Amino acid sequence: MVKVVEAREGEALDIELDLNLQKKNLELAEANRRLLEKYGIRAIDFMGSVGSGKTSLIERLVGKLKGKYRIGVIGGDLTTTIDMEILSRHGVQVVQVNTGRECHLDANLVARALQSLPLNSLDLIFIENVGNIICPADFPLGAHRRVAVVSVIDSPYIIVKHPLTFQAVDVVALNKVDLAEIVGVNVAKLEEELKKINPKLSIVKTSCKTGLGVDQLIEVLNL
Ligand code: MG
Ligand code: ZN
Repeated sequence: MVKVVEAREGEALDIELDLNLQKKNLELAEANRRLLEKYGIRAIDFMGSVGSGKTSLIERLVGKLKGKYRIGVIGGDLTTTIDMEILSRHGVQVVQVNTGRECHLDANLVARALQSLPLNSLDLIFIENVGNIICPADFPLGAHRRVAVVSVIDSPYIIVKHPLTFQAVDVVALNKVDLAEIVGVNVAKLEEELKKINPKLSIVKTSCKTGLGVDQLIEVLNL
């Protein structure tokens, strides 16, 4: 048996769990949603660890959808513009949000990013959150759908260690499935764990290398 110190509700000294902040964030997220709807824009929030494949998956989606929609991308990152430089090569409108030390995007930062996009000439916005599978889930941004991107080769415990994230999202992309067999990962087990945590989840197995699952992801996102 391992001794466990369990954090009680409100006990952790964590500014992100401050209820006033979360309430403020929700109000701003609601305002973002209204703004997006005024312009007839749908927005999708992608969260996942660094290296899970968020940028690559968005690249794949942009490749398939840019003939159908006018697409914008908001990218969250601590300091770099690497991801948005990659995506801007696909001829979509991009805006980088550099958060400095903030490990997630929040609704206020997204509101500012929306101000710098030509909303009149967009139909769809992909939001790439800061590379982090934990706290982005606590900060709704006003997006219509939330997608968690998980690299199946990250850790066999990636799902069971992040229950709150998988309860907060609508869709999970189990990414890099082309590598699962090589590394000996049991993807079916990850799927079972996800269903147990959130039976309402849409789960899609994807590979940005082969393009597997990208059409299915488009379908579950109703795009
Ligand atoms: Mg990225
Ligand atoms: Zn954070």
